[in-house]
Amino acid sequence: MTSMIPAPGATINAATTMQAAVVEEFSGPLVLKDVARPVAGVGQVVVRIETTGLCHTDIHAAHGDWPVKPSPPFIPGHEGIGIVVEVGPEVTEVALGDRVALPWLGYACGTCEYCISGRETLCPEQKNMGYSFDGTFAEYATAYARYVVHVPNDVSSVDAAPLTCAGVTTYKAIKVAGTRSSDLVVIYGVGGLGHLAIQYAKIAGGRVIAVDIHDDKLTLAKELGAEFTINALHEDPVAAIQKLGGADQAIALAVSPKAFEQAYGSLRRGGTLVFVALPADNTVELPIFETVINGITMVGSIVGTRLDLREVFELHAAGLTRVITEVRSLDTVNESIADLEAGRVPARIVFRM
Ligand code: NAD
Ligand code: ZN
Ligand code: ZN
Repeated sequence: MTSMIPAPGATINAATTMQAAVVEEFSGPLVLKDVARPVAGVGQVVVRIETTGLCHTDIHAAHGDWPVKPSPPFIPGHEGIGIVVEVGPEVTEVALGDRVALPWLGYACGTCEYCISGRETLCPEQKNMGYSFDGTFAEYATAYARYVVHVPNDVSSVDAAPLTCAGVTTYKAIKVAGTRSSDLVVIYGVGGLGHLAIQYAKIAGGRVIAVDIHDDKLTLAKELGAEFTINALHEDPVAAIQKLGGADQAIALAVSPKAFEQAYGSLRRGGTLVFVALPADNTVELPIFETVINGITMVGSIVGTRLDLREVFELHAAGLTRVITEVRSLDTVNESIADLEAGRVPARIVFRM
């Protein structure tokens, strides 16, 4: 966890401990406990967390699902919204009292080829909130001031939390997909990410097909603007979508390699498959011949930049998106994880501190 660095910066809260949900081992539940309150080092701020969303990535982190693993003990959480209560040395971007979002891209070098070409999410030096350093499932979190994003007054802290990862990730995925007016876009997985992906695809002018394995998710998808819905447990989505002429873009958000393969199979000639979900089972089987003959594009998309997140907040402040949340307290973290894994969550659980 974050080390205690002496804080020469200003402070408006002197508490020295805080409550946090800690991953102590990959196989066990998160442990709610008192830990040392972090302090702000050079270029950092301490944020008093108001809300923080539960992203499926936090579950992957807690289970050690991915090839690159975090090191327990650590605090997950990367959809944190809160107030800056301490400012470390050399911070110029934010001030005490500012309300900010703490996203997955917690730090990037700012000078590499990727950072200076607007692709900071590819920075090889990046640090990730709630993964390579402690995250927001806590009363306080440290953040690099340069990588927080101000939350506009018109966006509530409950809505801002899911926008900080689920929102920015799917906003970017639709940009990467290149969706334009009248394109047919299929969204695989109407969870935290998917419920927002539907809306960004509509904003880009697309017509939307939503695929999930729970009927209540598909009902929500319709409410949010999906024209067609398919329950992949009861109907073959590939056949159904090919009957519609095939999708111009498929966005893979379901935590299932099979869904990636179905997303691929849903495309029409010249179509684009965007890889976003990160299932523990890390391989998919896709054909070479059809990819070449049909001119298929496949592309990975990782979160979004600070500018993308600003745009996401602007769209929400303008009333163009709806964030579906269920607000809970942090002490429900383990049952909330179980509910999310079982698909018993409307779209996003948000913990209010
Ligand atoms: P979620 O659990 O809220 O949503 C997943 C949805 O997929 C659920 O609605 C579930 O019912 C549905 N689903 C499961 N199996 C399916 C299947 N076979 N076919 C169709 N739908 C199916 O999860 P989330 O928070 O939206 O995250 C989704 C994935 O995206 C996770 O793997 C997460 O780690 C990843 N993620 C990636 C990025 C990125 O930058 N690439 C960012 C955030 C999250
Ligand atoms: Zn996330
Ligand atoms: Zn960089």
